[in-house]
Amino acid sequence: MSKVRKSTVAGIICGVLLVAACVVIANMGNHNAGENGKPAKYIFLFIGDGMGATHVAAAESYQSYLEGGHGFRQVSFSKFPVLGMATTYSANKNITCSSAAGTAISCGEKTNNGMLGINPAGDTLTSIAKILQERGYKVGIMSSVPVNHATPAAFYGHNSSRHDYYGITEEIPASGYEFFGGSGFIDYAGKDGKKTGSEELLESQGYTVCFGKKEYDEAIRNGAEHIVLCQEAYKGISTPTYTVKADPESTIESEDMMKRCLEFLGDEKPFFIMYEQGEIDWAAHSNKTMPMVESVQKLDDAVEVAVEFYRQHPDETLILVTADHETGGITLGSTTKPDDNLQWALLDSAWKADDYSNTLDYDSNRALNESAYIGWTTTGHTGGPVPVYALGAGAERFGGRYDNTEIMRKILAE
Ligand SMILES: [Zn+2]
Repeated sequence: MSKVRKSTVAGIICGVLLVAACVVIANMGNHNAGENGKPAKYIFLFIGDGMGATHVAAAESYQSYLEGGHGFRQVSFSKFPVLGMATTYSANKNITCSSAAGTAISCGEKTNNGMLGINPAGDTLTSIAKILQERGYKVGIMSSVPVNHATPAAFYGHNSSRHDYYGITEEIPASGYEFFGGSGFIDYAGKDGKKTGSEELLESQGYTVCFGKKEYDEAIRNGAEHIVLCQEAYKGISTPTYTVKADPESTIESEDMMKRCLEFLGDEKPFFIMYEQGEIDWAAHSNKTMPMVESVQKLDDAVEVAVEFYRQHPDETLILVTADHETGGITLGSTTKPDDNLQWALLDSAWKADDYSNTLDYDSNRALNESAYIGWTTTGHTGGPVPVYALGAGAERFGGRYDNTEIMRKILAE
């Protein structure tokens, strides 16, 4: 055998060993999901609206500051073993809006900004929640902001305008999803306020609409099978866009909302749960650092409930945490004083002095960010990719860089 042929044989053997090793590595932690094209039994999809990698880093940096350091005290999901990155552009813009990005994540197809659950030609798209429901999954769709806002709506609505809030609410019963959660409804009785109220509208079609904990407990006692759980503060009224009133007495916090949804769906049947933290985007639009940080922490509280569930069902649970786009262009550091420590104490005390009421006007807020060396470059969305954190059955499919339309197919293991 010539030298050349020997090295070729050796090369083939090495190649075979390498491929075998790769297959072993790819299947590590794969358990019973993925290889046979089967999605995980229990699927959690968390969307931090507007949450780029630096929003998460800001929340972690703030937590470290509270503990006396200047590092990054990790949130639960940044410890997930798989980290990927998804591009976010829409069918017609570099910079997406939440309805186009929500549609891309939910339906696996790009659409134009402003559109929801339809493609640019107007054809109806099918949400991953619907696909899984048809395979016997129960479905929970939750948001910290209104139920009929763009991100949750991307999982049940089909509309040429994300702003047709009442029309979107009207689509809830047709979904047949077991559990909806949110702050309340925008355009509660339509834009003119003259239509049937959202509660009555949905109850006439088999949904029990609960505003607050008491009504929810009552609905459970009465054996409700389809529920919409909203905050007590928004019973019978339209929720304002871009602010969520936090009444600590009556508010159902993110982790409580997630716990109720899990209780309601149970673990007998498979389920798909989407949870959105919407105020990350809203705070980032107004460049409000501390409310944004607090919203990331609230998202993390809900994720922790899912992680606890994963610990009980590690082979059958997939948890994804991602974003629809980044908002605000936040940086840790600014041109005010490059390469210095962030002044979290300033932000923290200003936020506390404001009694957490988020009333700082634009100029004072801007001055506050500058003195804390936090930079913001826009009051809109930005066009960069967003992180995808994955844990559990099939998580390995989410490493690397891909488009947001791939997320749905990766969940379905297609
Ligand atoms: Zn936004």
